[in-house]
Amino acid sequence: MPGVYVSYPFCAQKCTYCNFASGVFPPAVEARYLDALEAEIRACHWEWMPETVYLGGGTPSNIDPDDLRALVGLIPGRPWAEATIEAAPGAISGERARAWAACGINRVSLGVQSFIAKEIRRTGRKHTAQMVADEVRILCDAGISNLNIDLIAGLPGQTEASWRESLGWIERLAPAHVSVYMLEVDRDSRLGKELLTGGARYGAAEAPGDDETAALYETAVERLAAMGLARYEISNFARAGFESRHNLKYWKLEPYVGFGADAHSFDGHLRKQNPESVEEYISGTGQAGGLPHDDERFFVGLRLMAGIRPAPEEWRRFERPIRRFLDAGLIETADGVLRLTGRGVLLSNEVFQEFLSHD
Ligand code: SF4
Repeated sequence: MPGVYVSYPFCAQKCTYCNFASGVFPPAVEARYLDALEAEIRACHWEWMPETVYLGGGTPSNIDPDDLRALVGLIPGRPWAEATIEAAPGAISGERARAWAACGINRVSLGVQSFIAKEIRRTGRKHTAQMVADEVRILCDAGISNLNIDLIAGLPGQTEASWRESLGWIERLAPAHVSVYMLEVDRDSRLGKELLTGGARYGAAEAPGDDETAALYETAVERLAAMGLARYEISNFARAGFESRHNLKYWKLEPYVGFGADAHSFDGHLRKQNPESVEEYISGTGQAGGLPHDDERFFVGLRLMAGIRPAPEEWRRFERPIRRFLDAGLIETADGVLRLTGRGVLLSNEVFQEFLSHD
């Protein structure tokens, strides 16, 4: 059963590490965007009942509850098996949490990133560890106990000790799902740019190096496993039965439909992408291009710890890279299944690149 993704790329502030197509816009733009989003959802001819809904961003938790109710009310299939909203901690009231539950939302993903005051301050986020703890309780009281917490390894000032402290909060708050991302260093974020080109504004000089960040990630894998949160995808950890049903659709190349700026859709054969910029999306001037997925199953599926079962022609076609990575200990195979090893996870971008560029 397909999933529905709704993009809301508006934020109260731009976090220093963020390389998403999100930003801070005047309220009037947000209002016009919501109108455009509603029109796009209304125009959809539903050929199937959505199983999952995912409100991502940006910060969809900032949508006024009445607007959210109207928006989500346009999506058929309620009650959904999983309906997630991404939330910035620090602004979740009991009223808001109850409004989400009343809309059919049954899962919240909290963009915590760190529980350490100094690290959080530097990212531009406003919450404290205690606020996160209070909001976890507020959400549970409202009936939403299926929670994800995001953490980032590699933030400026992070040390093995401070990382263990953040993981200690995870242990106490006991969410069913945790995502751990290694800081992405590229020119699309202010921190990434500073790391690449120098500067002293965002703390790049105090960011852990690649090896240290990899060690922090490995620490998380170990600690989270001890808490019963098994790694099922490179960046995702869950208690058994709490893996994200919506996100699994992306990795298993199952169909989903996306609404809003930069949202992708996949009908099982072709991908479609809405215009990336908010202005183009609202005015309807941007192009939504179609992309064949072709070889994608191979490298997207390898993100899952369960691995993939290549078809006979894929074994033949990718024989050279498979052999090379088997020899290097980056992938392993058993019973016709191919999966990344622990070391392969750390070097996964290199592995994926090779499969992507292979003819
Ligand atoms: S990390 Fe999330 S909240 Fe921060 S700017 Fe990016 S999308 Fe917005």
